[in-house]
Order: sequence, then structure tokens, then C-alpha cells
Amino acid sequence: MSKKPFITKEQAETIIKEFPTPFHIYDEKAIRKNARDLYKAFSWNKGFREYFAVKATPTPAILQILKEEGCGTDCSSYSELLMSEKCGFTGEDIMFSSNDTPDMEFAYAKKLGAIINLDDITHIEAVEKACGIPETICCRYNPGGKFSISTTIMDNPGDAKYGMTKEQIIKAYSILKEKGAKRFGIHAFLASNTVSNEYYPTLARILFELAVEIKEKTGVSLSFINLSGGIGVPYTPDKEPNDIFVIGEGVRKAFEEILVPAGLGDVSIFTELGRYMLAPYGHLVTTAIREKHTHKEYIGVDACAVNLMRPAMYGAYHHITVLGKEDAPCDHTYDITGSLCENNDKFAIDRKLPEIDIGDILVIHDTGAHGFAMGYNYNGKLKSAELLLREDGSVVMIRRPETVDDYFATLDGFWNVIE
Ligand SMILES: *Cc1c(COP(=O)(O)O)cnc(C)c1O
Repeated sequence: MSKKPFITKEQAETIIKEFPTPFHIYDEKAIRKNARDLYKAFSWNKGFREYFAVKATPTPAILQILKEEGCGTDCSSYSELLMSEKCGFTGEDIMFSSNDTPDMEFAYAKKLGAIINLDDITHIEAVEKACGIPETICCRYNPGGKFSISTTIMDNPGDAKYGMTKEQIIKAYSILKEKGAKRFGIHAFLASNTVSNEYYPTLARILFELAVEIKEKTGVSLSFINLSGGIGVPYTPDKEPNDIFVIGEGVRKAFEEILVPAGLGDVSIFTELGRYMLAPYGHLVTTAIREKHTHKEYIGVDACAVNLMRPAMYGAYHHITVLGKEDAPCDHTYDITGSLCENNDKFAIDRKLPEIDIGDILVIHDTGAHGFAMGYNYNGKLKSAELLLREDGSVVMIRRPETVDDYFATLDGFWNVIE
């Protein structure tokens, strides 16, 4: 099986005449279809809403598209709150799922009317001091231990810095109720990039059972249950993608079995997906500029880890297509590198690919989430442009590339400070 890029070589060549590589490009049509399918899959739940995790793709044009599809935003910083506000998200369109949160950010989130999601029991006091307890409030749960689906360990919540223990969260609802909160939610994020239709249903069962226990012990009936992010995408071409309709149905079953009999059938289901909403619908497009034959075969491209950090940071696999050579045999073995003075700046190691010539255009797949967003400026390298492939086939720039002036902007007035 192979991954097919959403642009052809001819399209790429036309785009590059106007917008030189490297750039990220997003597929509007596919983003919209995927968002609509998510809403269809959860249409059985009256209050369902997706709060897109802004950190995955903090780009106004993308947030606008998702807004038009009915999504809110999930923020964890002041800048993300500001971006949501500037894009027209208001009040409870915004979820503030932060941790280690400064007082000022709590206050700003409250001013916007965002739903504040408390990461810790001590944050009750912090919020009260910073801005007063809001009427609607959410608490983040961490059950500890390992998170498994049947016999497979999916992730390790016991090692994660997020959320409250069960004892703490039950106490938190009692305190919040006493302090005047009126509407309550619960949130948990227990495994990342799950390529399994079982993750959400398993998580839902845990949270639904806890919701029943919270009601029994504190008298608090939750209004919403936030399953957060964690639905993944298959980065390697051999894996089957998740089926959002199977996932939605699995959550529905748990809902009917656990919440409905407990009198909690009005609970809204929320999600905070990032990767699932965007990753497959973005490409990093880059040109081969150098080749090198030493102890290994290298192809140097004009993008580097500054444009996509996941391979360097996590050893993550990103599939690569050489445009125009989609059907050529993969009979060469290359390391595909960027130009950083950092040996982990490699988009692929020992990758089987067709023979690559200088000037070939490479598509690096699945960069639509946690791609551009994780960019940095090591070696003084600049962040690329972001482009949008519109539904009508036209291409618009949705963020210009950085210039050296941007890079030097924080040094204005500091060139001759030391006498
Ligand atoms: C990162 C994050 C998400 C999104 O995670 P994905 O794996 O991209 O779906 C959602 N909620 C919170 C609080 C996060 O930190």
C-alpha cells in the first residue's frame, strides 16, 4: 500500500513558480470532509462538539475552516486564546485545557468566557484568586497506572504530569459546587496517536463510570464529558486508518449502557482532536538540492527540522513521495537530510525510494498537525510559508515565510549594547 499525495507534480510545479519551496500546504476539501464525518459519527449526541487543539495547527485560515464546520478551539496558552479571539471564537466556543497555568492566563480565559479546564485541585484556589470561580468549570482526570486496551499497553498516565487523581477530582467537584459553580465537565487524555477504534470507547467507559460515581458521591451531575485528543493517524503506509463511525458507535454504546440508566442521558460529548483533524491533510513540500555519496547515500533538501521537527524529536516516520516518480521502483536507499548542524536533522533514514535527481520535488506526508506548529529557529533557519489548496483547486498563501527581519526583530535596539 502507498500514500497518495493530494497534489501532482504538475500542480506542484505551478505552485512553486509563485511560492518557492519549502512550504506546508493544506487540503481544504479533505479537512472539511473529515470534520463533517466526525460530526456525523457523533450526531447521536445532541450537544456534541469538537474543540480543535490549536497547538496542532495554529493558523487562522485553518481555524476559520474548522469554525465554519462547527468546531470550537482548545487552547493552552495566552497566545492561543488571543488567536481564537481574533478568529471570532467567543465564550464557550473556547476550551482552556492548560496546565502549570499562570494566573494571568486564567484571568484572560475567564474574561473571554472560555470553559476553564482545571489540571489540578490546587488550581481551584488559584482561579478563585485570579478571577473568581466561573459558573462553568471542567476538571482533568488522571487514573494513574498504565492505560491498556485488552492486553496492549497504549500509554502510561502514571508518568504523565496532567490531571487529578480520582480522590482529588471527586473532592474538587464538591469544593467547586460549594463555591458556586453551576455546570461541570470532566476531561481526560490518556493515550496519544492511537491507531485503534477502541481508544475513545475505552476512555469513554472509564469517564462515564466515574461520572456516575461523582453524581452518587457529590450530587454533581456532569453536563459534558471531554474525551480530548488522542485519535491518531497511520503515518506508515501499512496501517489502516481509524474509522470514525466505528469510534462514534463505540462511544454511543458505552453512553447507552452507563450514562442513560444513571439519569445522565443529557450529557454532551466533547472532543479536542488535533492530529486527527489535520495531520493527513498537510504536506511539507521540499526540493532536492544536494546529493552526497560517502558512507551512506544522502539527499539534501531545502527543508529541515525547523519546518518539521517530529522525525528529529521522536524518530517519527513520515512517508515521502518523490513527485512524478510515484510508480517508479523504490530501488535506492537514502537518508533524506536537512541543513542543520545537527545529525538528527533527517526526514528519513535508510528509506527505500526511487532514484532521486537534483531538482526533484518531494512531498513529506502527514504534516498537517504538529508540523509547522513545532517550528523553531535553530541555526537561524526560518519558518516556511503555509499555503491552502482551496476546494476549487486554487492555491492561496495563508502565512508568509519568515524573513531575516522577523528573525532579528527581537534584537531591534540591541546591536550595540555592550560598550
Ligand atoms: C495536544 C492536546 C490535544 C490534541 O491532541 P492530538 O493528539 O493532536 O489529538 C488535545 N487536548 C489537549 C489538552 C492537548 O494537550
